[in-house]
Amino acid sequence: MRYSDYLLPTLKETPADAEVISHQLMLRAGMIRKLAAGIYNYLPMGLRAVRKVEQIVREEMNRAGAIELLMPMVVPAELWQESGRWEQYGKELLRFTDRKESDFCLGPTHEEVITDLVRGTVRSYRQLPLNLYQIQSKFRDEIRPRFGLMRGREFIMKDAYSFDLDEAGADLAYEKMYQAYRRIFERCGLKFRAVEADTGNIGGSSSHEFMVLAESGEDAIVSCSGCEYAANVEKAELAAGTPSFSEPQTELVKVPTPGRRTIEEVAAFLRVGVDRLVKTLIVQTDGGEILAVLLRGDHELNDIKLCRLLGCNEVQLADDETVSRTTGAPVGFAGPIGLKLRVLADHAVAGMVDFITGANQDDMHFTGVSWGRDCAAPTFADLRLAKAGDACPRCGASLELWRGIEVGHVFKLGTKYSAALGATVLDDQGQERELFMGCYGIGVGRTVAAAIEQNHDRNGIVFPLPIAPFQVLITVVNPREEEVLAAANDLYRQLEAAGIEVLLDDRDERPGSKFKDADLIGIPLRVTVGSRGLAEGAVELQERASGQRTMLPMADAARLLAEQVRAVLG
Ligand code: ATP
Ligand code: MG
Repeated sequence: MRYSDYLLPTLKETPADAEVISHQLMLRAGMIRKLAAGIYNYLPMGLRAVRKVEQIVREEMNRAGAIELLMPMVVPAELWQESGRWEQYGKELLRFTDRKESDFCLGPTHEEVITDLVRGTVRSYRQLPLNLYQIQSKFRDEIRPRFGLMRGREFIMKDAYSFDLDEAGADLAYEKMYQAYRRIFERCGLKFRAVEADTGNIGGSSSHEFMVLAESGEDAIVSCSGCEYAANVEKAELAAGTPSFSEPQTELVKVPTPGRRTIEEVAAFLRVGVDRLVKTLIVQTDGGEILAVLLRGDHELNDIKLCRLLGCNEVQLADDETVSRTTGAPVGFAGPIGLKLRVLADHAVAGMVDFITGANQDDMHFTGVSWGRDCAAPTFADLRLAKAGDACPRCGASLELWRGIEVGHVFKLGTKYSAALGATVLDDQGQERELFMGCYGIGVGRTVAAAIEQNHDRNGIVFPLPIAPFQVLITVVNPREEEVLAAANDLYRQLEAAGIEVLLDDRDERPGSKFKDADLIGIPLRVTVGSRGLAEGAVELQERASGQRTMLPMADAARLLAEQVRAVLG
């Protein structure tokens, strides 16, 4: 492709409304343009990167035995009513009526449609196992669309659905998808982790998320330094540990802590570490129960664990009025002694002695608190968020903390949808059996954005070669010099003939601005053709990632570049 014939509108300034670097760079590098909130045009450069990811996904899905089809984006309400999700899904589901006043929605995910298709076409166990996928635009009316393609409203997803006669078959399908996903993200050239994930209210038995590692990631994940264990912090279990039964050393004393409400303020005022304090959170469930949760001062509540323990959907910190009514003190002074609420405590609190808590009295705390002597021991459970250095629940080695961007999700669904929609097959005994399903998603656009979050520098994008819009960029220093342009054209044709994807920057612009654009758009291999090099029969190769420069003899340049590309693609 010749730059002079292309649509590649780069921007010098950082667009004001783009918060994260991938969004900024995708706008600046002419990959995307916004049409409406969370809805984007994919410009040629953006589309090429998206297609690269799609192609890798397609190849690996096919290799794993999945079969591609395409379902409609517009879905009749009846199917969603059958599954019960028409009522449950909330506002992310964009609903509308057609001219006949029939209800429809834009598909945010396609369990209903695929299950309907399969119930109408698959009758016998002999047609199983089956794994069907599509690569298609989804619509979710996200409450806060942001970060460009990372969290759009319309976005491209690969979604696959497996159908098996029994759970063992479904487990195998899941394992195949898990391995296919590993290969996909490896082939994309990304650093990632596959982590155990919470199954949320879908309630399936098992789920993994694929996380591209990046500082800016919305998710926190832990992985073990000693074994394979990795999990979303939402899910990461923490072992109870062995409480030390050391004897209390100090007496219970009520001390004034005027105006000191936060853990940090109290610790600083009493000159102790925050881990000597037990913090008491007064929380309220969606069912209306108010209870107290105790955590060590330096630990954070994991509300998903708490919800699971309580069997509720949501917990919130109680409002100020509720806190003062239930504890007798303003926010910041709650504690377990004398508290007339159900009390749950994190495991880490079990072994504490001589600790500090609020006294349920304005401006007062207790020091020297110990379980049993001063206060009945509460119910202990795993209630906190994992953090760096915590012990791995599998092997005890220390956990590392990362930030990640969820790009893929694999999920065992069991018979949730086949039961709701009546998708059954006859087994070898002629018995009707509900199908066991799995669903497997990859955000294609989000993967491109995540790749940029992980791979950029202050000058622009540093594309991993497998998903770069072009593999080679030829910059013609001065296209007005005939010999230079001729040599560049020659190299361009040779590379195209060798099947290399190459962009030829033949624009009549200052070399400095062309080099700036080259940095910005991040093509991995950059070749500069100019009169100085040509005088010695050479062109200069610069690798975008390392910045390393080498002179290539003009006669061998195409072959050497093609070899370098093939070495990466394998
Ligand atoms: P999130 O927690 O980020 O909202 P999700 O759990 O809703 O994701 P899934 O329903 O599992 O996501 O969708 C499968 C994949 O689709 C996700 O792993 C992600 O890569 C992608 N995806 C989901 N929502 C969006 C979105 N709004 N924009 C872009 N990609 C998305
Ligand atoms: Mg979501």
